[in-house]
Amino acid sequence: MSAVNVARLSAEPLHVTVVNGAHPVGRGVAYGLRRPEYLLNVAARNMSAFPDEPEHFLEWLRTRSEFESTPEVELRERFISRQIYGDYLRAIVQHHLQSPGAMTPVSAQTIVGDVLDVEPLDSGGLVHLADGTTLRADRVVLATGNEAPNPLPGAEALTDHRAWVGNPWHAWEDRLPGPDGNVVILGTGLSAVDAIITLRTLGWLGSIDAVSRHGWFPHAHFRGIEYPEFPPPGVDLATLGLDALRALVETHCALLHERNANPAIIVDKLRPHTQRIWNGFDRQDRLTFATEHAARWNVFRHRIAPDIAAQITSSQLTGQLRVHAQRIEELTAAGSDRIRVRLADGRTLDADLVINATGPATRFTATRSALLQNLLRRGLIAPDDTDMGVRVDPDHTVVDAAGERSDLLLALGPMLRGTYWETIAVPELRVQARRVAETLLGSSRMDLDEGQLLLEYMI
Ligand SMILES: Cc1cc2nc3c(=O)[nH]c(=O)nc-3n(C[C@H](O)[C@H](O)[C@H](O)COP(=O)(O)OP(=O)(O)OC[C@H]3O[C@@H](n4cnc5c(N)ncnc54)[C@H](O)[C@@H]3O)c2cc1C
Repeated sequence: MSAVNVARLSAEPLHVTVVNGAHPVGRGVAYGLRRPEYLLNVAARNMSAFPDEPEHFLEWLRTRSEFESTPEVELRERFISRQIYGDYLRAIVQHHLQSPGAMTPVSAQTIVGDVLDVEPLDSGGLVHLADGTTLRADRVVLATGNEAPNPLPGAEALTDHRAWVGNPWHAWEDRLPGPDGNVVILGTGLSAVDAIITLRTLGWLGSIDAVSRHGWFPHAHFRGIEYPEFPPPGVDLATLGLDALRALVETHCALLHERNANPAIIVDKLRPHTQRIWNGFDRQDRLTFATEHAARWNVFRHRIAPDIAAQITSSQLTGQLRVHAQRIEELTAAGSDRIRVRLADGRTLDADLVINATGPATRFTATRSALLQNLLRRGLIAPDDTDMGVRVDPDHTVVDAAGERSDLLLALGPMLRGTYWETIAVPELRVQARRVAETLLGSSRMDLDEGQLLLEYMI
């Protein structure tokens, strides 16, 4: 989307090269073709790829025969299939980068390959690909996205084990055991939900155990109520600090409980302020929030389509899915066909298939990306002071290990967690992609009210 925005906004001739690993440009890991049953977890009305054209996705949906006659109110609230969203992004790439005609002075090219390193030159840099080729560039945008899950204790020895799935985004369906078999899913977040939905869609009848520290699944989207009491008038949420903010949130959650209303409304009401609150936190508050409160925040914040949530509940009610709130102690092979998962309370779960859906490493410097490790080694990038991501300035220019603004590198996406906290979903990414393009082009044309955008997302 950064490249697309450059093509949309540039008045000057430029050449953009998009280098991308295994996934087709646009789909990434989230919007691939692997399974049709995966739904977006954000309603269609808030999934436009462009912050300045909020209706863009809805208008595109209308060009498809299956949505042509869907009533507007219904379409806006629909949780569309992630495959279809991938089609949308692919269509945008095709339109702006692959066959732009005379619309833009920007030319573009896509290269399938893995980037291993970027070597700075006196002016610009050399991008080194794994196949030995190099590309000369004036500026390089790091948009390497979502990393595969963190390895778990004992998992290194299981890499080639037939019952081990180290990355839930790779196909594992052909390795499913029979109906008397057992699958263990490590994690209860969005990737774990994907795995359970696939098991149900396939009509698989075996038993499923899901393990995570808290055992919480993401909550479902719901229609909120008016709650003007939060934030209280005159209170600036961004300057409270973590302890006072937590106390305030707990008080209001208790009030909502008393009214039989969902306390997650408070998370929605916090959304327009999240960025300022995060900016106002000191380093210790950020670390405390990430270690002690993020798990609870995430289950309310990253809500799933009601239909998907209903399927998870149904699996639990029928007894097919059991949830264990435990730390995972160790994984070992139990023969050549099974894996044993040892939990912190001493219990063990033996499984015919174990899927690691625990999410990426929380320490940025533990990244498993060879490219990011090389850039760290060169001092071209540096972790932010919480080590949750890479350090950038507000215009997305990377700040290097010497504390200088990089002449070469910009960054966006999930690797900016320490800077923004909210930096994963499309409503945030589309704003970032536009800002990156503006920085590259040396302009600032974003005449948007970001608070308004976040508000829309929240509702
Ligand atoms: C399973 C899943 C479901 C999601 N669902 C939603 C949703 O419903 N709604 C929503 O708003 N958000 C959702 N998100 C979040 C968000 O939309 C994605 O995280 C978003 O796709 C991130 O885009 P990205 O381009 O930054 O990264 P990615 O989509 O991860 O793309 C990064 C690309 O960079 C490539 N790459 C990485 N390193 C290199 C290298 N060294 N050399 C070459 N190529 C490299 C990768 O192969 C990949 O293709 C979801 C995320 C996931 C993972």
